[in-house]
Amino acid sequence: MYSWEKNIRTVEPYVPGEQPKETNIIKLNTNENPYGPSPRIASMKLDTDFLRKYPDPRAGMLVDKLAEYHGLSSDQVFVGVGSDDVLAMSFMTFFNSDKPILFPDITYSFYDVWAEMLRIPYEKQPLDENFNIVKEDYMKENGGIIFPNPNAPTGILVDTDFIEDIVKNNPSSIVIIDEAYIDFGGTTALPLIDKYDNLIVVRTFSKSRSMAGLRIGYAMANPVLIKYLNDVKYSYNSYTMNTPSLILGSEIIDDEEYFRSVTGKVINTRERFTKAIKEMGFTVLPSKANFVFASHSTVPAKEILEKMKSQGVYFRYFNAPRIDNYLRITIGTDEEMDKVVGLLSKICCATN
Ligand SMILES: *Cc1c(COP(=O)(O)O)cnc(C)c1O
Repeated sequence: MYSWEKNIRTVEPYVPGEQPKETNIIKLNTNENPYGPSPRIASMKLDTDFLRKYPDPRAGMLVDKLAEYHGLSSDQVFVGVGSDDVLAMSFMTFFNSDKPILFPDITYSFYDVWAEMLRIPYEKQPLDENFNIVKEDYMKENGGIIFPNPNAPTGILVDTDFIEDIVKNNPSSIVIIDEAYIDFGGTTALPLIDKYDNLIVVRTFSKSRSMAGLRIGYAMANPVLIKYLNDVKYSYNSYTMNTPSLILGSEIIDDEEYFRSVTGKVINTRERFTKAIKEMGFTVLPSKANFVFASHSTVPAKEILEKMKSQGVYFRYFNAPRIDNYLRITIGTDEEMDKVVGLLSKICCATN
C-alpha cells in the first residue's frame, strides 16, 4: 500500500453490459433498440464550423425543444450526457441529507455505486416475493427516494397513483422517478410535476429513441429543482452537452411517427416472445420495458446464458441474491427473437 492511498476516493465501479466486437451476433444484453434512429438524421448535413466554438452551456436548442414537446416551460427541463449523467448530478444535488436515501434491493445497479461514490447513506428496500416494490417501505424517514418505472431489471411497472402516494407522503424529500423504459407501454408520472414540487422525472434517448451512442438524457421538474441542478452542473462542467448531440437530438424529437412505430414494434415483439418462451417452461415477469426478465423451470440461467453465448446470442445475467436464476433479455427484431426462440427450445425443451 502506498502512503498516499488512504486519501484516494476508492469506488467499486458500475459494470456495464458487454459490448462485443463481433458483428454477426444477436446482442440482447444492454437494452439497446434493435431499430436505428429516425432516418431523418442520416440525411442531415452538419456544418462543422460549430466544432470550433464551445457549445451552448444552456443546451438551449435541445432544452427548448424538449420543453415544447412535453408541454413544459424551458426552465422545467435539464439535459445531460445520458440519463446516467442526469441521475449522478441529481444524486449530488438532491441527496444531501444524513438520513438514508431509499431504493429497491433489486433495481438499476448504478444507484448504489453513485451513493457509495458520493458518500450518500442509503438503505435498500426489498421487493416482495413477486418482485413488486412495496409502497409502505417508502413511507418512513429518508433523505430521498429513487426507483425506475418500469423497474429494471424486472420490467414491472407501478401506476401513477402508487407514485403519487409516495411523492405526497414525502414532502421533505426529493423523489426521482427514472423513466428510462416508460415509452414501451407505461404511463408517465410527468403530469405530477405540476402538482408536487418534490418530484423529478428522468428520461433517456438511449432506449426508445435508439440513440444510446449519442448520450442524451433529461430531467423534468419544477423550475426551482431545475435551477438547483443547473447550479451544480455549472459548478462542475458547464459544457456537458456537445454540439452534435444538441443538433441531432433536437432533430429526432420531430419524428414522432417513427418513434411511435419503433416503440410499437418492440412492444408487439415483446408480447409475442413472452408467449413463446412461457410455452417452453419459462417464468416471465410482466414487463412494460424493452426487455423481459425470465427464469426457466429446469435449466439454470447461467447454463442458458453460456450456451446461447456460444451460439452468438448475448443476454444479461446478474450474479446477485434472488435473481441469479434469471436472465434479462432485450427485445430485438422479430427475426432475431424468432432465432432466439428456436435456439432456446433446443436448450430448454430437448428431450434427451
Ligand atoms: C439504461 C438506463 C439508464 C441510463 O441510460 P443512459 O444511456 O445513460 O441515458 C438509466 N436508468 C435505467 C434504469 C436504465 O436502464
